[in-house]
Amino acid sequence: MTDDRELFDILDRELERQNTTLQLIASENFASKAVLAATGSVLTNKYSEGYPHKRYYGGNAIVDEVEDLARRRVCELFGAQHANVQPHSGANANLAAYLAVLDPGDTVLGMRLDQGGHLTHGSPVNISGKFYNFVSYGVTDSDERLDLDQLEALAKQHRPKLIVAGATAYPRIIDPAPIRAIADSVGALFMFDAAHIAGLIAGGVHPNPVGVADIVTFTTHKTLRGPRGGAILCKAELASAVDKAVFPGLQGGPLEHVIAAKAVAFREASTAEFAAYAAQIVTNARALAAGLAGEGFRIVSGGTDNHLMLVDLRSFDAELTGKVAQEALDRSGITLNKNTIPGDPRSAFVTSGLRIGTPAVTTAGMTEAEMAHIARLIAAVLRAPDDGALAAEIREEVGVLCSKFTPYP
Ligand SMILES: *Cc1c(COP(=O)(O)O)cnc(C)c1O
Repeated sequence: MTDDRELFDILDRELERQNTTLQLIASENFASKAVLAATGSVLTNKYSEGYPHKRYYGGNAIVDEVEDLARRRVCELFGAQHANVQPHSGANANLAAYLAVLDPGDTVLGMRLDQGGHLTHGSPVNISGKFYNFVSYGVTDSDERLDLDQLEALAKQHRPKLIVAGATAYPRIIDPAPIRAIADSVGALFMFDAAHIAGLIAGGVHPNPVGVADIVTFTTHKTLRGPRGGAILCKAELASAVDKAVFPGLQGGPLEHVIAAKAVAFREASTAEFAAYAAQIVTNARALAAGLAGEGFRIVSGGTDNHLMLVDLRSFDAELTGKVAQEALDRSGITLNKNTIPGDPRSAFVTSGLRIGTPAVTTAGMTEAEMAHIARLIAAVLRAPDDGALAAEIREEVGVLCSKFTPYP
């Protein structure tokens, strides 16, 4: 198929890495062979600026079928009136949503970055924070859950045009209903960024924000387990504004090979098997959190309702930083990321916490027994983060575990 050994040898090593080490990054997953095949298809060759049946170039009759199928499947999956499946990523989906309903300088409420929010929710280093006036809400000091009283007070004080809900490092259910009520009380629009939890919503284990929020954005590659990309769902009255914002407002030609893979993933996510998968993700997260708590780690907010947990390392070892922990675990074949925790005294580059997610290991077939094992391995590494011999030993044990749960045999 190719003589480019220089590149494909590197890809072979990445496949080996994914097959033989533990993937616990909360935003990652293992896409199916069908998703990979569609992503690698000849649709990558086609230019199709515009939307189905309204393209700028010829030769798009078949591509139109692909994009229509993706839109129909995702509307059925989430019960949406309109879908735009062209955003190249979650960040683009969010930016397009802002472009659709905001003017530069408008006020928006979003979740604080250091308490679980995303860069695209108003970080000063992101275009969202440069073009719009974001005001941040956070979690309570007491139970580390979304502070709805604060959200309401900020909404009354700042009269935002838009309230954004959703998070990248928040372990609890986000109920859209009370946020809708707050938005209505101040005449704001409501956008729900379901980037992380789209698969949990599709699988029926988290409340569906579609029909409650005016706009729902999400990524297709996290819990939803599709190709790397984004999508926007909205009410019919916002359809034209959203479509214009994605193209020509923000992007050029759509990635129809990725849209084909999104269609595959939407079908997969509508099955009973996927609903069972989504439930097992949460069961596994709870088991892993319980195992880590048993090893002496404090779990932020006391547990998890979703696919991830935040671990406060200070309870385990006051000196241990997220940065050192991430590196020690990486050497041991356990891949996860450092993360700030609410009220973290350390910077985002150092942190006092870890974010750990179960979507990928659950796809690989692991269940509660393996979660208990992983908790023991993590604790063993972090008791002696500088011990190279121990890291090699654990790396071997991880290899044995992964050989029974290989994502791409
Ligand atoms: C991951 C994420 C995004 C961005 O997705 P990308 O595809 O990486 O651009 C946006 N919002 C939230 C809440 C996320 O977790």
